[in-house]
Amino acid sequence: MLLAVAAGMYAVYHGPGGLTDIADRVHRTAVVLANGLRRQGIPVLTTTFFDTFQVRVEGAAHDVVSRAAASGINLRLVDADTVAIACDETTSRADVLTVWQAFGVEATDERLDRVDDATPELADASWRTSTFLTHPVFHAYRSETSMLRYLRTLSDKDVALDRSMIPLGSCTMKLNATTEMEPISWPEFADIHPFAPIEQAAGYLALIRQLESWLADVTGYDAVSLQPNAGSQGELAGLLAINAFHAANGDVGRNVCLIPASAHGTNAASAAMAGQRVVVVACDDAGNIDLGDLRAKLDLHAAKLAAIMITYPSTHGVFESTVAEVCAAVHDAGGQVYVDGANLNALVGLARPGRFGADVSHLNLHKTFCIPHGGGGPGVGPVAVRAHLAPFLPNHPLAAEAGPATGPGPVAGAPFGSAGVLPIPWAYIRLMGLDGLTRATQVAILSANYLARRLAASYPVLYTGRGGLVAHECIIDLRAITKESGVTVDDVAKRLIDYGFHAPTMSFPVAGTLMIEPTESEGLDELDRFVDAMVSIRAEIAKVASGEWSREDNPLHNAPHTAESIAGAWDRGYSRDLAAYPLASVRKAKYWPPVSRIDGAYGDRNLVCSCPAPSAYES
Ligand SMILES: *Cc1c(COP(=O)(O)O)cnc(C)c1O
Repeated sequence: MLLAVAAGMYAVYHGPGGLTDIADRVHRTAVVLANGLRRQGIPVLTTTFFDTFQVRVEGAAHDVVSRAAASGINLRLVDADTVAIACDETTSRADVLTVWQAFGVEATDERLDRVDDATPELADASWRTSTFLTHPVFHAYRSETSMLRYLRTLSDKDVALDRSMIPLGSCTMKLNATTEMEPISWPEFADIHPFAPIEQAAGYLALIRQLESWLADVTGYDAVSLQPNAGSQGELAGLLAINAFHAANGDVGRNVCLIPASAHGTNAASAAMAGQRVVVVACDDAGNIDLGDLRAKLDLHAAKLAAIMITYPSTHGVFESTVAEVCAAVHDAGGQVYVDGANLNALVGLARPGRFGADVSHLNLHKTFCIPHGGGGPGVGPVAVRAHLAPFLPNHPLAAEAGPATGPGPVAGAPFGSAGVLPIPWAYIRLMGLDGLTRATQVAILSANYLARRLAASYPVLYTGRGGLVAHECIIDLRAITKESGVTVDDVAKRLIDYGFHAPTMSFPVAGTLMIEPTESEGLDELDRFVDAMVSIRAEIAKVASGEWSREDNPLHNAPHTAESIAGAWDRGYSRDLAAYPLASVRKAKYWPPVSRIDGAYGDRNLVCSCPAPSAYES
């Protein structure tokens, strides 16, 4: 469902020839439309254009735009004398006639044919002459059958949620139910332009207002903006609101943002983008905010304190019992409290940040509220605030309904952000109801604690809170194990692939550890299957530690094992069977990784072009 993937597949299917044909047709349609208007003495103001041009209609622009709207076409009102028109590949002959009629141009189909040989109006320098999309993938799939099979081969390479749990801590990879997903492809939701006149979007606006009020209810805040496209953008919006609040109070010079050492990287980045100065607060040995250090930093920076950004439950996966005390101390020093709401899957229905001392939070609808994510979006990161910050929520210069007139401006291009995917969280909340949401939170916490208890026999659990319990995720500590055996978190993550599992989060927020979040979507059988894999891996590690397997020749170091490596020459100190089927249960549904171990960090540090060399195209 990722927008970038959809766009990429569009290019794969059409290829350079198809895209050029589409562009030619779009341009020709625009030229035909413009010529028809010119013939009636309506001046076209844009001298060279591709798909969009402006025309002058002395004093009649309002009439033209509303006549077009009455026949189902939106033109853009530039000013009282000017109308802008844009065509695309869906613009039909009938559409061209309708637009002409809106301008009072008496037109027939026949007339459309006469101007069809229109000469292009694109500036000479704008024509592309170089080749593009030269990779074979853009030339191979031209029928629905072959495209379908190509997509299937790609999905076969993936360990996705349709194959196993994705235990990525901090990411809340939960079920994206088909019932929730289906409506976003309905034309009623999918085919509306973000800048369509608001009166044409009454249904969307109702959905947006309902969702805002439900989220306010769930979080205990007073106002919500759905505009931010990611949690990190919600952070920026929240910090801009805090800046504006201090400024409105005449409280100038408050620019210090306190951030605990355990925080997610986006917190500090957002503070820097909001023009604040980051001051890090230490964590104690138990992973909690060090209250002594907090008080010292508050004393030092009180006059300049803008805010603290904390995460609750913390990124250590613990409900810090001092959270109310932290909020109060920051308020006493004149600062605002930002609670990062990415871990809301541990709170919904149980506790409300807006009522335990926070002033503002972002939520991640692509984590807690079921929008699929991974690979870069589309996310929705609403920012939720208490009443005193509500006047400073994002707004939009082209859509009054998008936010308060007193707001600091937009944080995203579209007035309501990724509105196209909002039916997903709407449906999730509507289907679950408050009781269902609360139950989901309870099950998510129970599942994490079940995993923590069962795994603790094999791997130490790094941080726990009151009663030895974790929140909705747990961190297992491999550092001592690595020291003793040489087996690293990477080795465990790669070996899990042989067992058919996606890796947990590696080395965040603590290097050398794995963070595991099961969510409420996984049943007991899947949790047990995961524990069985982890316990079996622990036994494998023991064989490396004892010297039974060498540090270089063992199934962990060589993981993951591709079918090709199993089928090829075999001179390893363990069997092929053990490499591919380490547990009997793996035989039921074996996942074969398409590649064996690669140097992941190398790829991050060096740009690697995977296109064929130019010589491959020589005829
Ligand atoms: C995911 C996450 C974020 C950032 O959210 P994005 O939607 O990825 O921008 C911030 N804080 C925490 C704790 C997170 O887990």
